[in-house]
Amino acid sequence: MAELSDRMKRLIQPHLAGIEPYDPNFTPTEVNLSANENTYELPAGVRAAVDEALAATPLNRYPDPLSDELRDELAAWHGVSREMICVGNGGDELLYNFLLAFGGAGRTLLTCPPDFSEYAFFASLAQTSVERIWRDEHTFELKRDELLAAAARADLVILTSPNNPTGDVVPPALARAVCQACPGLVMIDEAYGEFADAGASCAALLEECDNLVVLHTLSKAFGAAGIRCGYVMAAPDVIEVFGAVRQIYSVNVLTQAVALAAVRARDAFAPVIEQVRSERARLFAGLQELAAACTPEGTVWAGQGNFLLVRLPQASRVRQRLRDEHSILVRDFSYAPGLADCLRITVGTPEENDRLLAALRAELGQ
Ligand code: PMP
Repeated sequence: MAELSDRMKRLIQPHLAGIEPYDPNFTPTEVNLSANENTYELPAGVRAAVDEALAATPLNRYPDPLSDELRDELAAWHGVSREMICVGNGGDELLYNFLLAFGGAGRTLLTCPPDFSEYAFFASLAQTSVERIWRDEHTFELKRDELLAAAARADLVILTSPNNPTGDVVPPALARAVCQACPGLVMIDEAYGEFADAGASCAALLEECDNLVVLHTLSKAFGAAGIRCGYVMAAPDVIEVFGAVRQIYSVNVLTQAVALAAVRARDAFAPVIEQVRSERARLFAGLQELAAACTPEGTVWAGQGNFLLVRLPQASRVRQRLRDEHSILVRDFSYAPGLADCLRITVGTPEENDRLLAALRAELGQ
């Protein structure tokens, strides 16, 4: 594994000495189902609105620091006030700022892995300790009682709904109980929320839980990972802190213009989301058939995001063969604790999913 040079190990802040240089580990392939992007084209009308908005955006002026027009549109959509929204350069920036502002030495972040690896990474950058309540090793369900007991002594909690990479959602009643138990802030990361069943979102709890932070992004359902735009919703005093610690111009003019056009046209995304959900069901059935033929270890977990987690024998080898022989990229989690022989596969277009299933059948000799 790559390491920093000895010189850098001496010069970097001591708590960062173990950090690894970034390795994108990316191979261009014809079909990329590795990053949970939305592989569908933007709806035609939305693409035209985006192009028009981009063409009309002056580049010589700094952006509106707080993206107020976008905040107003998001606020109207979610039925909250502008003061309850902060926009960021992708969900990642907001996650980092959450740890930067509210974590720190002597503070503890509670997470429930396997989950999004950036939480622990950002916690380490911000010198925040991490307490982990591991999910059930077979079902990946959250352990309610342990979670609530740990939340009572945590400064921060992050739960993911649907969870990346296991796909399950946090029932709003559990989110409410965690908010009640935790003396600090509780973030529910709903990056994939639009793909989940109706009623799964915890955003409605914002009215009653003033320590709740809900994270959304335009990278997934809105098919706009490239523009880097996410937002958090929380009580106004929490949002004031998000506003105070951020880099003032982190959300550039082009991003604000595209995001505003996309969010205004949000209803046009409903058919895409519906198609991803129905393709997810079809992919699940196909993977279930493949996994069932690989007893005893073959398993696929029913997920509510735009991806599925599957366990197959020799998953790393299968992933490599998919890439090298079939030009299909999926994400290998074999190395991650609790995820031995697991691959995470983004739900693609019908053609991409057919191609993936055919390649898997060929590789697994079925
Ligand atoms: N949360 C989760 C669970 C994710 O999987 C991702 C992206 N992979 C993000 C947040 C951040 O997404 P973005 O920075 O693209 O908004």
